[in-house]
Amino acid sequence: MPLEIVRNDITKMKVDAIVNAANESLLGGGGVDGAIHRAAGSGLLAECRTLGGCKTGKAKITGGYNVPAKYVIHTVGPIYNDGKHGEKALLESCYRESLALAKEHQCETVAFPLISSGVYGYPKDQALKVAIDVISDFLLENEMTVYIVIFDKAAYKISEKLISDIAEYIDDNYVDEHTDYSRERIRMNALPPMAPRTRKKKSDIDSFKMCDCKAMLAEDDLDAKLKQIDESFSQMLLRKIDEKGMTDAECYKKANIDRKLFSKIRSDVHYKPSKPTALAFAISLELSLAETEDMLRKAGFALSHSNKFDIIIEYFISKGNYNIFEINEALFAFDQSLLGA
Ligand code: ADP
Repeated sequence: MPLEIVRNDITKMKVDAIVNAANESLLGGGGVDGAIHRAAGSGLLAECRTLGGCKTGKAKITGGYNVPAKYVIHTVGPIYNDGKHGEKALLESCYRESLALAKEHQCETVAFPLISSGVYGYPKDQALKVAIDVISDFLLENEMTVYIVIFDKAAYKISEKLISDIAEYIDDNYVDEHTDYSRERIRMNALPPMAPRTRKKKSDIDSFKMCDCKAMLAEDDLDAKLKQIDESFSQMLLRKIDEKGMTDAECYKKANIDRKLFSKIRSDVHYKPSKPTALAFAISLELSLAETEDMLRKAGFALSHSNKFDIIIEYFISKGNYNIFEINEALFAFDQSLLGA
């Protein structure tokens, strides 16, 4: 998946490059900087000494030494004052400059911490939004897998308002569904009890044989029915892309799906995607709820009110918010798997 939010210690990430939230001296510090220097060993500090520091908003690259990543990209985030001192532009520049360096060094996978969101005080929800915006813009033009590594989930939060709106929506829909379930149970209990299972009698076996013959006779019928098989998921996807006037690349990039997976779906008319993949395309195509249900059915799935994942997706579609990164942010906050491959 081109952009993924994961919870991990960045020093453990097996990627081509990890990004360090450094300070202007590049000589190590606390937080993620300290963790990276500790894990990489003294070779990293020795190389950093040769770099002559780094300005806020800029980035420099070194080897990875003892961390699994080949490179460490050091970028200096802004110290957050009140948000009115160019902090956002500087933070955006950190992500852009780091991505440009990663590209220059042919990195295919890069992991970022939430720059400036520790001792530099940038509010975490806003820092995450900047990260997502800049990275997703970059991914529209470039092939790379980028991870945003969240270290401390407790300290991480998306906007309180969004959280409470979604929580309310989940609550409302769970209640409805549970009411339905209890009605269903009452209805089931009202049905006459089923006959106990017995061993098959000979006459039953004979009638089975007859059924078999009938089935053979019906084979031609079945063949004819199978020929009228519905449009497949892959066919519907390609049709919708055309109808929306999108290019394939626009669609899979907006869906946060990588090119290889898209090609696989494109070339296999019977491809069965996972539910998050099918939904990612529905979001990318900005399908209505009914169309989303239709697309999911093609892949053998449905939206249900008995799980949070589905309700969160439904919440965003019903609000007309098709920003996959915001949806993933919310899914992450509610401990759900993310959309995309
Ligand atoms: P800054 O000075 O840019 O604010 P910090 O290192 O203080 O940098 O914090 C940046 C972010 O990195 C914080 O959100 C912090 O929780 C996170 N962080 C700290 N250690 C790690 C780690 N080992 N891996 C990933 N993220 C980390």
